[in-house]
Amino acid sequence: MGQTAPNPVLTTIKFFREEYEAHILHKYCPAKKCKALISYEVLTDKCKGCGRCSKECPSGAIAGEKKKPFTVEQEKCVRCGLCINVCKFGAVQVLSGNGKGAGKNV
Ligand code: SF4
Ligand code: SF4
Repeated sequence: MGQTAPNPVLTTIKFFREEYEAHILHKYCPAKKCKALISYEVLTDKCKGCGRCSKECPSGAIAGEKKKPFTVEQEKCVRCGLCINVCKFGAVQVLSGNGKGAGKNV
């Protein structure tokens, strides 16, 4: 059993080597799912300043004035993803590593 235990890991490395390298070498999560490697940002040009994300955020990480672009305080954000789901304007994106974004509909 001890000799075959690493096989599942070795197999995933064989077939998903690029994923491993992206995470380990480039600190980038291509799927934008790893909480340690992502951040949520408000797109100022799309944000209508409705404040819905701020009301729903469980950690009080989103602040702003009505009818002006809101912002995410990264130190408070627990990366739950709720803000992307509640924003009706597609104004929240998730970024990883090299700054490539992916909105809700991507
Ligand atoms: S829900 Fe969307 S449009 Fe409304 S304040 Fe938040 S990011 Fe801006
Ligand atoms: S990901 Fe969650 S904790 Fe972070 S800003 Fe959005 S709603 Fe708040």
